[in-house]
Amino acid sequence: MSYLQPTRKATYIAGSKYRRKAYGSNHPLAIPRVSLATELIDAYGALTADEFLQARKAADFELEWFHTPEYVSAFKRAEALGRVSNPVRQRHQLGTLENPYFEQFFTIPATATGASIQAAEEVIRGRIAFNPAGGMHHARPDQAHGFCYFNDPVLGILRLRREGWRVLYVDIDAHHGDGVEAAFADDSEVFTLSLHMDSRYAYPFKGGQLSDTARAGNTSLNVPLPKDTNDAEYRMLFDAVWQPVLDRFRPDAIVLQAGTDMIFADPLGKLGLSTQGFLATAQTILDTSPQHADGTPRLLVTGGGGYHPLVLARAWAGLWALLSGRELPEALPSAGAAALRAVDWDMDEEEAHYEQLFTSRLDVPGNLNVRPEIDDLVLSIQQHPFLQTP
Ligand SMILES: [Zn+2]
Repeated sequence: MSYLQPTRKATYIAGSKYRRKAYGSNHPLAIPRVSLATELIDAYGALTADEFLQARKAADFELEWFHTPEYVSAFKRAEALGRVSNPVRQRHQLGTLENPYFEQFFTIPATATGASIQAAEEVIRGRIAFNPAGGMHHARPDQAHGFCYFNDPVLGILRLRREGWRVLYVDIDAHHGDGVEAAFADDSEVFTLSLHMDSRYAYPFKGGQLSDTARAGNTSLNVPLPKDTNDAEYRMLFDAVWQPVLDRFRPDAIVLQAGTDMIFADPLGKLGLSTQGFLATAQTILDTSPQHADGTPRLLVTGGGGYHPLVLARAWAGLWALLSGRELPEALPSAGAAALRAVDWDMDEEEAHYEQLFTSRLDVPGNLNVRPEIDDLVLSIQQHPFLQTP
């Protein structure tokens, strides 16, 4: 096959090119995700063998940079036993409806997490890195939360911190990156920026407000988004925070959590962004990242939420193309379209956008009117204490 050649040094990390069934069968994450995105990228001829890195399982000692030894060992014991005991379920929130038990219960999340540590090491050695299986931003040291078992963004950041780097974490997933924010609330060398559905109507139903500035002085900034936030509105809000935070914090590296549940068709997301809006945000982050001496951005990108498999695969294929410096044609290649058609998915087949999911990697542009509440939110952002410091 013919390949589109990359113009940037980037590494794509994944466990296997084949699908591993996680989360059982009755869960929003029981859909093909990374395997489908990889298949679509392959169909474009946009991933060479040199760029692919096989994910490895995180070692226990690495998981314990953030997680408690009790949590790690309870997790491993559950995989060995083939079930979660009641005390473990209660204490660690494992094996619940939200965070269900499945085959390879420890191995699958530990591998997605190892990949974020590998991604940090790729960034340290001078490459951009993308771990689409990562981005499990809700996990806590001792508990699973919100479908997240190990907090791989935290571990990736901690690997970068071992180089003495200051890290800016930017989370564009539709949900508040609460686990990452909490992990670094006392570390002035890590700043967390999250744009997300307002917790007054969305998970995790608390925190994440503009006024919730982290305790130990200015280590986080949250932008709560109203329902149906569109591309133009998101752009205004993103521009109000991004460059000012970069200028004040001056990071050595950026970690981007790129969940696709911010895109309009997502069944759990309530925002109104297009795939183009998602990609334009990633492009700005890429263009403004701190760089190595040769100009390669110091940028670690993880996946994240995203519950519409077709939207997710299109968005991450486009994201990988941006990161690796490739121009993808807008039309889906026939092998890619066939891979999307083969997915058992009909949740939105009555909707106007549905057919287009199989023909183009981009969406029909939506409404671009800016509501007055967005202007008000921009003004409030400009008054944020962190952005008032010189
Ligand atoms: Zn999410």
